[in-house]
Amino acid sequence: MRPLHSLLLCASLATSLPLAAQQAEDELKVAISALPAPLHLLQGQGGNVIASVGEDGVLIIDDDYTNYAPAYAGVLDGLAGGGKGTPRFVLNTHWHFDHTGGNAYWGERGAVIVAHDNVYARMSTRQEMKAMDRVMEPSPRPALPVVTYADAVALRFNGSTIEAQHYPRGHTDGDSVVYFAEQNVVHMGDHFFKDRFPFVDLGSGGSVQGYLANVQAVLERVDGKTVIVPGHGSLAKKADLQRYADMLEATIGIVSERLEEGADVEEIITQGLGQKWESWGAGFIDEARWIRTIAESAG
Ligand SMILES: [Zn+2]
Repeated sequence: MRPLHSLLLCASLATSLPLAAQQAEDELKVAISALPAPLHLLQGQGGNVIASVGEDGVLIIDDDYTNYAPAYAGVLDGLAGGGKGTPRFVLNTHWHFDHTGGNAYWGERGAVIVAHDNVYARMSTRQEMKAMDRVMEPSPRPALPVVTYADAVALRFNGSTIEAQHYPRGHTDGDSVVYFAEQNVVHMGDHFFKDRFPFVDLGSGGSVQGYLANVQAVLERVDGKTVIVPGHGSLAKKADLQRYADMLEATIGIVSERLEEGADVEEIITQGLGQKWESWGAGFIDEARWIRTIAESAG
């Protein structure tokens, strides 16, 4: 029986491997959506990407997971034409690998990487991401930001005034929100998971209270016509961001109040946050994890 079994296994491997490779290739697709010219929204599997494509060349905000870089190269070449898709600038909203995974690919091809000082600090040293149960080794040199800033930086590119403004102690300690003044477009980085509880990376210097304060600060700067690009999820308006801020304020309030009353975290999780916020737990951060994050950040 053994030889027959091996033969069958070989046959099934031979037919399934090309299929698996095909599937893997299909999954590396990057969707393009329209934003006010010269901007485009690009979405693969990681964080949302904004590309500015025009007479000054290409600039991108964030660059998804590492394995997606060639897919982005194809899309950017298509948008820019004539193989001119390599970005001159890559701006990172924060250091997480689903937003900076393409840095090495682009850095090796001559892109100047721009980010907050703390993005450089975390990417250039070994990081233990307890929340993800993952250790991140220092990134190779081409992946590291070359231009860094403490508070804000502005780039004038393709007719846009692009301002990256740092917001301290929010999702991490090195987050920027990027404003395109003339286009009235904002990239929130991971200060906005549309209609989902947020991931607040306490191990990277994040804070739940700071996160809420930062979202409220951005709300002060946008208007009803602003196109808001969340770190993850579909395009949004100010009303969506307001709903997000309301959720944050209410749920942080519920957990804080119960902690003050002497409840422990497990009791709060059992009791839950109420039906009103149930659907927000359908993503990467479920209700129990959000409650734990709030409690840990407060403690
Ligand atoms: Zn993140």
